[in-house]
Amino acid sequence: MKPRQALAEIKDYLPGKTIPGAIKLASNEHPFGPSPKALKAIAKEAKKLQIYPDQKATALREALAKKFKLAPDNFICGNGSDEIMQLLAGVYLNPGDEVLLAEHSFSVYELVVLLFDAKPVFVPLKSYSLDLDALSGAITKKTKIIFLTNPNNPTGSYFSTAELEDFLNRVPEGILVVVDEAYTEFSAAKDFPRIYKNAVVLRTFSKFYGLAGLRVGYGIGPAELLAPLFRAKMPFNVNRLAQAGAIAALSDTVFLKKTYKNNLEEKRYLYGLFDKLGLDYLKTEANFIFVALKRSADQLATELLKKGIIIRPLTSFGFPEAVRISIGTRTQNERFIKALSC
Ligand SMILES: *Cc1c(COP(=O)(O)O)cnc(C)c1O
Repeated sequence: MKPRQALAEIKDYLPGKTIPGAIKLASNEHPFGPSPKALKAIAKEAKKLQIYPDQKATALREALAKKFKLAPDNFICGNGSDEIMQLLAGVYLNPGDEVLLAEHSFSVYELVVLLFDAKPVFVPLKSYSLDLDALSGAITKKTKIIFLTNPNNPTGSYFSTAELEDFLNRVPEGILVVVDEAYTEFSAAKDFPRIYKNAVVLRTFSKFYGLAGLRVGYGIGPAELLAPLFRAKMPFNVNRLAQAGAIAALSDTVFLKKTYKNNLEEKRYLYGLFDKLGLDYLKTEANFIFVALKRSADQLATELLKKGIIIRPLTSFGFPEAVRISIGTRTQNERFIKALSC
């Protein structure tokens, strides 16, 4: 059986390695484990698993609306924010449409664009940050979607709400801007999401809330933009455990505060050690640090792996001499630095 032509261009997704017993600083996962409140809610919800989940994740969307002072119709939940990316592509792209992507970014954007026979157009970064001027300058009559990542993965760069709004004002009508804010909760400058007529903001429970394995993310935007996604999605896309766990995680204040604090303190700790070791790195607004090497990233990753530390070589992101280190606990970071320096 012959798959559609589009599949010929789609490469396998390259995840961070997972090895029992090793310290994993490769996939920006939570160093403490999942939100404890989420775990309790999940255990309780498990007793109802014979019943289908709520199709529209109503209670979760209401909890999000309350938290951000928006309306439930401004939210759609997905099996990870990855699913919302796929839904947006499936709903808004016609074959041949162009999609603007920053170079060296998250590979799922390209995957969903190719899947729906659209054309990814890559725009270079500027000093390792998204180049919003170059992105708006690259718009053509064929452009249909623009993906922005803020903070950016893998460089950790950040643009402000004012810069975003200025960008959105320059985008002609009929073009959708997707702002992927998977790491925004780690950023000092984080804002409440706002509703823009031509944009959908994506957020996730995978990183800050420690629920990557549960698979739940959400899109925020005007109800008119989201309504067709509700029609296109599989009816029960977010499972019962995910809905219950996410609601509980939203109010797990103690855990969330600890998460923010650890990330901030450990980021400064790692900066200090990188300075001592003479390593070049980029200041980050996320839970990972981009470190530039003067040698092969794959080789370093292999060496560290032998010492029980998993990091992410950025070869597949187009940086064969850079790595991305997820910020861990003090113990994990110490072991990583020790392995790195001997
Ligand atoms: C981790 C990550 C996500 C989260 O994806 P989920 O499907 O919600 O787990 C989204 N965007 C970027 C850039 C990421 O790095």
